[in-house]
Amino acid sequence: MPDFRSLTIEELTEWAASVGEPAYRAGQVFEWLHSKRVTSAADMTSLPKSLRESMPELISIRRAQCLQSKDGTRKYLFELNDGNYVESVLMRYKYGNTVCISSQSGCRMGCRFCASTLQGLARNLTASEMLDQIYKITDDINERVSHVVMMGCGEPFDNYDNLVRFLRLITDPAGYGLSRRNVTVSTCGLADRIREFADLDMGVTLAISLHAPFDELRRTIMPITDRHSVSEVCDAAAYYHERTGRRITFEYALAKGINDGDDCADGLSRLARRLGAHVNLIPVNPVTERGYKPTAPTGVLGFKNKLEKQGINVTIRRELGQDIDGACGQLRNRRLEELK
Ligand code: SAH
Repeated sequence: MPDFRSLTIEELTEWAASVGEPAYRAGQVFEWLHSKRVTSAADMTSLPKSLRESMPELISIRRAQCLQSKDGTRKYLFELNDGNYVESVLMRYKYGNTVCISSQSGCRMGCRFCASTLQGLARNLTASEMLDQIYKITDDINERVSHVVMMGCGEPFDNYDNLVRFLRLITDPAGYGLSRRNVTVSTCGLADRIREFADLDMGVTLAISLHAPFDELRRTIMPITDRHSVSEVCDAAAYYHERTGRRITFEYALAKGINDGDDCADGLSRLARRLGAHVNLIPVNPVTERGYKPTAPTGVLGFKNKLEKQGINVTIRRELGQDIDGACGQLRNRRLEELK
């Protein structure tokens, strides 16, 4: 049986034909799944009973656990149907509700400061499992999600086909109808995928997790640099910018004494200026197993000022939900430890 929530309207139309139903059933099913967000075929009351009974299981997340912070941030630990776990975070801003979702259970990119990759990759998520993180949160808070960032567990471009399918579904006006410009895909820099994605021109924002402007240094923090050098990643990002007209964001986590010196500020400025990129700074979130320490607040401000003097557009990411947990991937890791 296909995973119904991962199917496009065209694919549902083929399914309808295969079971001898008229094509308009596809639109009905799509609306039940993505606009009304039912989790059981039994609730699709506009469909004939026999058809409902022939439909597959629709549940992709079977359990949810939620921690709420004083600032309104909520962190969710979702258990998938096969017992794997992913994390999502809801952040409340004046302009709307932003949800940070996972694209994989675990990750195999090996970034040294990141908790999600500590235990390797468990598996890719289906489009349905990415959608359901947003749907579960929407139903939990009884409000729409306006912005989605793919900055939870996993490397989105390491799960490319499911990512593209998810993006098509979540932005379909007949479904949840999220605005394309309110979606950010964040990558550690899979240059060939960035180019492929640029050619689709989906109108979403691309964030590059740079964290170091020089190959030698970046290699010690992000092993992916062995496959794609900084200049390859930046060339691909420039291509994305040219093809889509969307401004690139550089993510840069500041680790004390590692990547927060003047040479790094200069190197980062040069790369950002060339691309017209926006820079998002965040003091690195300490992960016990890792040993990187965050740059002190004064150091973060100093780094920001150096970039701004070079004409770069910079923001310091506010750290929300600090009272409920540290870096992404930590809730899942704790749960995995408990299960051992
Ligand atoms: N794989 C994707 C998306 C997941 S990580 C990527 O690399 O972009 C989302 C963002 O959080 C990335 O910028 C990542 O580098 C950053 N990040 C991960 N662990 C962190 C930590 N301990 N402190 C600060 N940022 C971290």
